[in-house]
Amino acid sequence: MMQLDEKLEPILAEVMRRNAGEPEFHQAVREVLESLGRVIAKRPDFADDALIERICEPERQIIFRVPWIDDQNKVRINRAFRVQFNSALGPYKGGIRFHPSVNVGIIKFLGFEQTFKNALTGMPIGGGKGGSDFDPKGKSDREIMRFCQSFMTELHRHIGEYTDVPAGDIGVGGREIGYMFGQYKRLTNRYEAGVLTGKALFYGGSRARTEATGYGNTYFVESMLKTRGTSFDGKKVVVSGSGNVAIYSLEKVQEFGGTVVAMSDSSGYIVDENGIDLKLMQEIKEIRRARISEYLRLKGEGKGVWFVKAGDGSIWDVACDVAMPSATQNELTGKDAKALVKNGVIAVGEGANMPTTPDATRIFQDAGVMFAPGKAANAGGVATSALEMQQNASRDSWSFEQTEARLASIMRNIHDTCAATAEEYGAPGDYVLGANIAGFVRVAEAMRALGVI
Ligand code: GLU
Repeated sequence: MMQLDEKLEPILAEVMRRNAGEPEFHQAVREVLESLGRVIAKRPDFADDALIERICEPERQIIFRVPWIDDQNKVRINRAFRVQFNSALGPYKGGIRFHPSVNVGIIKFLGFEQTFKNALTGMPIGGGKGGSDFDPKGKSDREIMRFCQSFMTELHRHIGEYTDVPAGDIGVGGREIGYMFGQYKRLTNRYEAGVLTGKALFYGGSRARTEATGYGNTYFVESMLKTRGTSFDGKKVVVSGSGNVAIYSLEKVQEFGGTVVAMSDSSGYIVDENGIDLKLMQEIKEIRRARISEYLRLKGEGKGVWFVKAGDGSIWDVACDVAMPSATQNELTGKDAKALVKNGVIAVGEGANMPTTPDATRIFQDAGVMFAPGKAANAGGVATSALEMQQNASRDSWSFEQTEARLASIMRNIHDTCAATAEEYGAPGDYVLGANIAGFVRVAEAMRALGVI
């Protein structure tokens, strides 16, 4: 582990003491604090007035019960959260995750990351995150609807277009956002389109929002490759996951001339030596909501396609030039990083939030692999959410081309900001440092301007 600046050590110790049993939150805070030593060496005033301590403490944390009735008429309960982390730059903004692993520590880590990510986009959005330990897997459409309605029955009093604007994340997509928006509208008697993003097009959604995170990560990695005089063209790529982020990374990588040879879900991973078939993957995941092994069944054996069950191997053993972890936190370990380096990986772009463990990140950086941290590389999703808010505020709807052009320029900008900041702070090419510092400075300046908040 990296040495922390002596002024920052007690801050981390205090965060760990006050938030016991939340390892992902500790991990996210440690990574940012490791980058801040260089900031306070240059700008000691940033360590005054407990500014860093305040940034590590969420402004508000809401925990609530969600009762709902399943198809067997049985009453079920789940626990839900909304962590409103920081509103110095704008209303809290960040997704909602439905997954059995969700707890307050997971939501806090995500809210903390979101604060800096949102700052990096340059748009007027603060940071927040929410979710529930509800498991959407195997639930009927009606059960999902009843859960979303009950969840929103409590959440509605805490959100609003000027207060807190949730969106999707793992387990929450267009369908769930629709049910939540419907319930919010009934409860408030307001057609307040800007209260949620990730809406469908016909009731205030933005074009390119579904594609934005995957496209954005691909744009970011393309910019990074360009600094070394190369591009996606002719490259072999592995993208973990098979949700929105993974599917639209696949589409954009193909467009840039790369070949995605493997993708995964929690049941295992699929390899297609000739390149994963986008339409087939969309059919399996977006329409049928099926397991990824369906890909092998539909393609047929003996065509350079195979499936490896979860636990029987790691997707990161598949040789590639570029790795885009786009499933979930801590999915790419030190062992995986070693395998990737051995197989000649040159760039990694984090499509998910914190998918790479700290030791894996270090292995990449020590080996000279270009590494794009999630809070910069996957910011295209939330940036396009901010574009959705803009369209809602002006009662307008932009074309796909116009929206994608804005996304592409935002991603180039984030890339250049991270690269320039890393350079300015004496660590050229270190995108982790660049992203953490650039995000921190924006949040910190705004907080200071607003007084002791
Ligand atoms: N859940 C996404 C993220 O991690 C998107 C958040 C949003 O659009 O508000 O950034």
